[in-house]
Amino acid sequence: MTDWPLKRIVIAGGGTAGWMTAAAIAKTLGHAVELTLIESDLIGTIGVGESTIPPLVTYNRLLGINEADFMRATQATFKLGIGFENWKEIGHRYFHSFGSTGKDHWSAGFQHFWLNGLERGHDEPYDDYCLELSAAYAGKFAHLPDDRMNYAYQLDSTLYAKFLRAMAEGEGTKRIEGKIAEVELEPTSGDIAALKLESGQRIEGDLFIDCTGFRALLIDGTLGSQFEDWTHWLPNDSAIAIQTRSVRPAPPYTLAIAHDSGWRWRIPLQHRTGNGIVFCSRYMDKDAALERLLGEIEGDTLTQPNVLRFKAGVRPRQWVKNCVAVGLSSGFMEPLESTSIHLIQRAVLRLIRMLPLAEVSERDILEFNDQMLQDYLQIRDFLILHYKATDRRDSEFWRYCAEMEVPDSLTQKIELFRETGRVFRRNEELFAENSWVQVMMGQGIMPRSYHPIATKLSDVEMTKLLSTIRDNVAQTVAGLPDHPAYVARYCGAASASAA
Ligand SMILES: Cc1cc2nc3c(=O)[nH]c(=O)nc-3n(C[C@H](O)[C@H](O)[C@H](O)COP(=O)(O)OP(=O)(O)OC[C@H]3O[C@@H](n4cnc5c(N)ncnc54)[C@H](O)[C@@H]3O)c2cc1C
Repeated sequence: MTDWPLKRIVIAGGGTAGWMTAAAIAKTLGHAVELTLIESDLIGTIGVGESTIPPLVTYNRLLGINEADFMRATQATFKLGIGFENWKEIGHRYFHSFGSTGKDHWSAGFQHFWLNGLERGHDEPYDDYCLELSAAYAGKFAHLPDDRMNYAYQLDSTLYAKFLRAMAEGEGTKRIEGKIAEVELEPTSGDIAALKLESGQRIEGDLFIDCTGFRALLIDGTLGSQFEDWTHWLPNDSAIAIQTRSVRPAPPYTLAIAHDSGWRWRIPLQHRTGNGIVFCSRYMDKDAALERLLGEIEGDTLTQPNVLRFKAGVRPRQWVKNCVAVGLSSGFMEPLESTSIHLIQRAVLRLIRMLPLAEVSERDILEFNDQMLQDYLQIRDFLILHYKATDRRDSEFWRYCAEMEVPDSLTQKIELFRETGRVFRRNEELFAENSWVQVMMGQGIMPRSYHPIATKLSDVEMTKLLSTIRDNVAQTVAGLPDHPAYVARYCGAASASAA
């Protein structure tokens, strides 16, 4: 079979989701498909989304992107994790790092050995056993042999979309500027037949990808895929973003600082810093949030405040008929753990693996929707953990969070850890054991017990195990260059040095 009946793919929307989708499909399938992307400059994109997680490194590699070129083009810095301040209680901080902590045994994670070590008088912090975490706090970074340093990027999302656009167009994607005014359905099948623009132009396709952001023009507006609301677990519904001139060398991590009705972010790029406040409008109004944000950010502002409203939740059916939702059209959870761009990546790669040949298969649809929902549910639980497990009771917002009922799946994870120190990663879950352990302990959940294997070590063996890991981390970090110097050498963007 040489011909491919379903080869006209139309992407509606050209934000991060639209161009990540276009670049990946164009790169993978080349001229085997006719790829068209429609976007409207008048509508624009959401204009936020700067902090990412490590799988993006793999995504870019799959696309054959040269890392230094990409980082230069997007003014990117390296990210080793997220620093959380004021979450467990005001004045407390912890770090959720990429990578792993200590050395696991197949039967028990490192936390079991560390907990047993505490009882034997080894009271060095758990943090001291993690390379990425120690490097982050020291403000250092380098690529290490065998990818031993796990990292992601902090980037300018508008520039990332532009970079991917150039790639996708270079691989044959056709871009059409215009506003979609109507989605035309095929009367018998109910499939989407074409998109009609305000200009009157009609674009036919076989498969449509809805990347129209929160508007969800195709998947919701036309095909009626329902949105499942999760605001009772993730009550934040608003954000204000603003960019500032950087006042300090860029650290290799994102900051998430809790306040009485939500939290705020600080994301250092090469040429500027991204800031924002996330809040729950039930407990804080927009003016108070803006005042708080402006009062706490550092450096001159470079942009007007960008006010955004959102709702936490998911569309359980992200693929309906011949339309697949990718990006904000598929659902949204607040950016606390930088998971949205990652969900785009997962959807795009899954879609490519399940691309229909002659006709859309209901089995593919079921599989795709099930896998995407799994991702959403697992990330949802991880995010709720940050709110539920807290000692804060200083505001209505935190009292609500501490008292809210949480999904059984999360209760099981928390209580299992509290009782036994165990965490299990299920079904290729995005956040592995290291993430759960760091955040659970960081939020104040300390296990009451640990795996008996830790007691097998003699005192001498335990001392050696712990000190070897700590020394190794400390020596490696001492030998690393400062992050800003490394970035400047590796991928320094011209305007960054001028700024
Ligand atoms: C406050 C906040 C902070 C965030 N921070 C992060 C973060 O740190 N990390 C992270 O991973 N994610 C983050 N995100 C999520 C991230 O911004 C999005 O996942 C990402 O930008 C993808 O957006 P999108 O492309 O789906 O939608 P959009 O950027 O909204 O793009 C929609 C596209 O559709 C087009 N369009 C819409 N309607 C029409 C029409 N009628 N005709 C033609 N074109 C149309 C628009 O022109 C645009 O091109 C954040 C989100 C919010 C709200």
